[in-house]
Amino acid sequence: MNNFNLDEINEECGIFGIYALGSNVAEIIFYGLQALQHRGQESAGIAVSDGNNILIYKDLGLVSSVFNEQNLAPLQGHIGIGHSRYSTKGKNVWKNSQPLFRTFKGQSFAIAHNGNLINTESLRKDQIKKGARFETSADTEIIASLIETSAQENIEDAIKDAISAIKGSFSLLILTCDKLIAVRDPNGFRPMVLGIKGGNYIIASETCGLDIVDAKFVREVDPGEFLIIDENGLRSQMLLSVERRSMCVFELIYFARPDSYIYNKNIYSVRHRMGEQLAKEAPAEADLVISVPDSGTPAAVGYSAASKIPYAEGFIKNRYIGRTFIQPSQNIREIGVKLKLNPLKDMIKGKRIVVVDDSIVRGNTSKQIVRMLYNAGVKEIHMRISSPPLVYPCFYGVDMATQTEFIANHRTVEDIRKYLGVNSLAYLSIDGLVKAIGEPKADFCFACFNGDYPVDISEMLNYDKFSIDDCGMEKMSGSIKTI
Ligand code: AMP
Repeated sequence: MNNFNLDEINEECGIFGIYALGSNVAEIIFYGLQALQHRGQESAGIAVSDGNNILIYKDLGLVSSVFNEQNLAPLQGHIGIGHSRYSTKGKNVWKNSQPLFRTFKGQSFAIAHNGNLINTESLRKDQIKKGARFETSADTEIIASLIETSAQENIEDAIKDAISAIKGSFSLLILTCDKLIAVRDPNGFRPMVLGIKGGNYIIASETCGLDIVDAKFVREVDPGEFLIIDENGLRSQMLLSVERRSMCVFELIYFARPDSYIYNKNIYSVRHRMGEQLAKEAPAEADLVISVPDSGTPAAVGYSAASKIPYAEGFIKNRYIGRTFIQPSQNIREIGVKLKLNPLKDMIKGKRIVVVDDSIVRGNTSKQIVRMLYNAGVKEIHMRISSPPLVYPCFYGVDMATQTEFIANHRTVEDIRKYLGVNSLAYLSIDGLVKAIGEPKADFCFACFNGDYPVDISEMLNYDKFSIDDCGMEKMSGSIKTI
């Protein structure tokens, strides 16, 4: 098995769109994006149209730091889309922030994308041959470029052409001067929901984006669906044929907000059941269950409920820390985790503790957490993870790690237990995970756990390097085990 470095291609994003004739939508998009902030913290942007012109404001930073009354006020229009973006190191530059703006036959459009395309290299090459120029390293620009250069007569058909050419994961919002268009890839990798408020349609990445603006959930946008919302209301078309639904299971484990619903299931309850199942599969003799907050908490509460071992808060989380950009010097190397979490010493001292987290990626955080717990005086640590070991990289939009960086790559659970220095370690099984979700396994993508990639990733494996260095993209090389 070889290794694949995909440090620079992942996107995790939140998108929000609304069509509300007679209203100004910028403020509502601002609130929608705030509810979706967990999906991306590095840049935020809003594009609105008043029926004639599109205006965009975007910048690096959290939604609340990018927008204020002064810059929201000029964004006048009744249709709009918003985007909050997470990028990996190196790509966090202004020009990659979204929505992107382009024109088709003189008509403006803006585009916001959550997901990751897997046939970017061939499409980019074809587009460059046709004379297209790229300003960013974002795969979203390829979609914009395909629309821009389409030979179709109208923008709707140009968008359909572009969508038919792309492969991978995409929940997309496109704003034209008079329409809001939503498209979801035929696998439905990333979530996307339709809501309504006062007769006006809203599209959001997750239902928590509807809740914040008091919109009623209508339904999920179907995989392969092409939705157009304009002055005539809502039209839907199944544009892309669905071979296999494969919602990202990691959305349910970690990424989506616990108050959101996917496949009509509340994420908190699903995670609670993951914890219950974990307690059945991997019981422990212990005095207390604690979580690694916040992502481990629902499963920890579930573990406690099923095991009858009391749950208590073992850490206090500092909620005001974002991603750390300053590389800490050697003597304060561990500051990253300490900035976020501090153990409640009196609560855990002298006790045998079950520590529940949702996942282990590289093991760095987990190792520091273990050290912090021992320093706080715990007697035993039984680590329980409410997902199976992460072994294969995600090509469909979750920023995880390169394959060699996964601690579970080529290591047994016992190896990892020793590395972390805990008394016992157990992960939830794939079958247990499916049971906790309560939906058919076939409807999900489990690739990060079992290497079964629902959309062919061979193009990602067959080239040595992206040929787009002029866009600031770093070199990527290598290959992964093919299955
Ligand atoms: P580590 O021990 O360094 O592998 O970190 C484990 C922690 O990373 C867990 O608490 C997870 O909730 C968290 N985690 C899992 N996936 C991601 C991701 N894609 N981005 C950021 N954090 C993640």
